[in-house]
Amino acid sequence: MHGKLAILSIALLAAFILGGCTVFFLDQDDGLTYGRFVRIETTAYCPCGICCSWKLDKSGRPVISAGRDRGKPKAVGITASGKRAHPGTIAADTRYYPIGTVIYVPGYGYGVVEDRGGDIRGRRRLDLFFNTHREAIRWGRRKVKTVVFPPGTPAMPINAPPPR
Ligand SMILES: [Zn+2]
Repeated sequence: MHGKLAILSIALLAAFILGGCTVFFLDQDDGLTYGRFVRIETTAYCPCGICCSWKLDKSGRPVISAGRDRGKPKAVGITASGKRAHPGTIAADTRYYPIGTVIYVPGYGYGVVEDRGGDIRGRRRLDLFFNTHREAIRWGRRKVKTVVFPPGTPAMPINAPPPR
């Protein structure tokens, strides 16, 4: 009996140390969806030229102001997925968090990965969309314990109750 308990404890401890294995669940109409904790450094952005690297050219049209695509037309407020950005839009490294991934961010709410960002690289970085620059500045940079849900989890309203 004690042996079994010890093995169970060691297994749980190993799972915990390996990280990202702690499960949390989202109670949905059709049952429970399990997510996992991931500690992530979050920043914030809005559609403005400062946050999204664009400026107006001589004819008053928005163009990309930095990087490889400098000078090319910029669709302001449109995400990498082609959807219009809205509160709840999250930019992530889509090698780790594919478009459509549902993530709960404490203090922000539920979001969906719909965008990418030049310096949003790796498992431990997210950029959260806000409508205004002021709100983005207010968020600043926060390290939070997010809950990442598996592929296929339906999007949640940003202000739905937190997972339990
Ligand atoms: Zn901005």
